[in-house]
Amino acid sequence: MEKLIEALRNNTQGQVILPQDHGYDKARAIYNAMIDKRPAIILKCKDKEDVVQMVKIARENNLEVSVRSGGHNGAGLSLVNDGLVIDLSEMKSIKINPSEKTALVEPGNTLHDLDKATHEHGLALPVGINGTTGVAGLTLGGGLGYLSRKGGLAIDNLLEAEVVLASGELVTANATSHPDLFWALRGGGGNFGVVTSFTFNLLPIKNVYAGPMFWPLEQAEEVMKFYDKITKNATNDLYGFFAFLTVPPAEPFPEHLHMKKVCGIVWCYTGDMEKAAEVFDPIRAFGPPILDFVTELPMPALNGMFDELYPPGYQWYWKGNYFDELTDECIQEHIKHGSQLPTMFSTMHLYPIDGKVHETAQEDTAWANRGARWAQVIVGVSPDPAEADKITKWSRDYNEAMKPYALGGGYVNFMMQDDQARVKESYGVNFDRLRKIKKKYDPDNFFHMNQNIKPE
Ligand SMILES: Cc1cc2nc3c(=O)[nH]c(=O)nc-3n(C[C@H](O)[C@H](O)[C@H](O)COP(=O)(O)OP(=O)(O)OC[C@H]3O[C@@H](n4cnc5c(N)ncnc54)[C@H](O)[C@@H]3O)c2cc1C
Repeated sequence: MEKLIEALRNNTQGQVILPQDHGYDKARAIYNAMIDKRPAIILKCKDKEDVVQMVKIARENNLEVSVRSGGHNGAGLSLVNDGLVIDLSEMKSIKINPSEKTALVEPGNTLHDLDKATHEHGLALPVGINGTTGVAGLTLGGGLGYLSRKGGLAIDNLLEAEVVLASGELVTANATSHPDLFWALRGGGGNFGVVTSFTFNLLPIKNVYAGPMFWPLEQAEEVMKFYDKITKNATNDLYGFFAFLTVPPAEPFPEHLHMKKVCGIVWCYTGDMEKAAEVFDPIRAFGPPILDFVTELPMPALNGMFDELYPPGYQWYWKGNYFDELTDECIQEHIKHGSQLPTMFSTMHLYPIDGKVHETAQEDTAWANRGARWAQVIVGVSPDPAEADKITKWSRDYNEAMKPYALGGGYVNFMMQDDQARVKESYGVNFDRLRKIKKKYDPDNFFHMNQNIKPE
């Protein structure tokens, strides 16, 4: 081990962190505190050359590796027990080209970092809903969020990636250079190499008309039916994710709603701001909502709206599904489980993935769920480790109940380690091609700390 550490110190610029070091516990802490792994070495890479060296040294020494960017993965796949963590969290350069409307982004950036940089130029990338999430892991799994109906998934806006392969070679993947790898990276997760930079196409979006609206839980059936209808017939400018939640006992929520279980929709309208209020007239007339925080906002304010509610270090247990319709029976099951949120932080979201997402064909990227209207996430969350079993059980029970109505498979970024058996189904028609590409670029399955696609 000493020789290996020496090799890392001599050949890389990054900081080597070992179990006996002062900063070790901080360096191995990730967003989901339910995960407690003890890597042998963490190397905070400074640049892509560090990544090349790490891959080579890990291979020569037969060490398992994991790749960490934002550290948000629910399953904790960015860490590996007794192995080597390729930590990219300090590689944080972002270069915006305003005239080309593109961004060159290193993997250590969070959505907050990227939003801030693009917003200065009146631009935005479709990403997720929490500013603290890593751009890298989110993109490689697909990347869905507020701008998905308008601009597709993050991968639909990926133009190029620089990748360190399992051989240690650094390559560029785009439509003409390693096109098979480029196809696989768009949804195939961390299976194919370490991405050291992403080039994205950006959308001209600065402000949005957005925010949450809540209705009483007793009205959930009508709200879900109304939500289904209005989003089905809406233009791609209107996005709203449905949620079961508990109103937090804090400002800015009115006191009479504190700790009440409610259902809600978090909206994001990207059309003409002058006409936005008019678009929301029928929505406001429905119910009417018991809370309405929808107003014009800068895009980064929407993307970071729930960050304070969900700081790092809570216990998280996730399950994910895809749906193409909300039948009456399915709605009843949702209400049954959504009414039993086990903690104040636990929630269920239905994220729309229609609109522009459906304009790309199923086989055009590795992500193979273009027929679905929603990606569901069921998340049990608690600050208290003693509640880990309770939140896990609720998520599993809810997920089981959804099986008759779901399309099969789930979003790989909403899966835990116990979901590996669902990987094949999640990639559907693209699974066999992914295995062939895995065999070409990573025949020994060197990169296996992920929702793993085994080489053919
Ligand atoms: C609070 C919260 C909100 C979320 N909201 C959304 C959302 O709105 N939309 C959405 O799509 N997802 C969302 N997610 C899920 C998120 O996409 C995944 O957790 C994703 O893995 C996070 O990426 P990361 O870089 O932070 O992950 P990390 O934990 O750092 O990495 C996760 C895995 O991704 C792979 N990986 C990461 N970086 C690289 C790289 N540079 N090269 C190769 N492989 C790499 C590796 O396999 C790694 O194990 C959310 C997660 C959380 C915790």
